[in-house]
Amino acid sequence: MTQQQDRHQQRQQKLKEKVDEKIAAATEEKGLVLVITGNGKGKSTSGFGTVARAVGHGFSCGVAQFIKGTWDNGERNLLEQHGVTFHVMATGFTWETQNKEADTEAAQLVWQECKKMLQDPSLDVVLLDELTYMVSFDYIDLDEVINAIEQRPTQQSVVITGRGAHRSLIELADTVSEVRNVKHAFDSGIMARKGIDW
Ligand code: ATP
Ligand code: MG
Repeated sequence: MTQQQDRHQQRQQKLKEKVDEKIAAATEEKGLVLVITGNGKGKSTSGFGTVARAVGHGFSCGVAQFIKGTWDNGERNLLEQHGVTFHVMATGFTWETQNKEADTEAAQLVWQECKKMLQDPSLDVVLLDELTYMVSFDYIDLDEVINAIEQRPTQQSVVITGRGAHRSLIELADTVSEVRNVKHAFDSGIMARKGIDW
């Protein structure tokens, strides 16, 4: 073995020991709260990816979508066939409707369903897609959201997506990822694409 190979092996061995230590220390088993936020593309895709992963393991999942596009929804078409329940806000994009009263009412209807999901021990993963905006716009009370999530069944995991996650949601979460926008096709005048963007 050359000196270089030897040094590489020693470094890898040290790395392995550190990782093994961390694995041994991670003994707590409970449902997680994940927040996927930031301005880049990939937040909802990540949330639905998690649901698909859980469904693949035979787990039960529920989804709430707080901002529905005016178009068809690929993930719903697929996941409903696999027993995932969807609660979708009846309005289109919020910035299109611009009617606070109607939007609050629509958000509240979905939120009532969310509260039921967050009390249902048969649900392993609950995705609250675009929830962050409902909290920012004050359509749903932040304390109510925090309480419902804190009181949920121990083994249930919750994924929250949306830009500008409130700092209390970030504090509450176990795992937080921020998707950064490096570039987006839309800025080059390319249309949103079926199967990629929705
Ligand atoms: P996706 O659903 O593709 O994972 P997302 O959930 O991260 O995206 P949202 O803010 O919910 O992003 O926006 C949804 C739509 O807006 C998608 O069609 C997505 O491609 C597009 N989009 C996301 N980020 C950007 C961006 N930085 N610039 C322009 N369009 C974006
Ligand atoms: Mg999204």
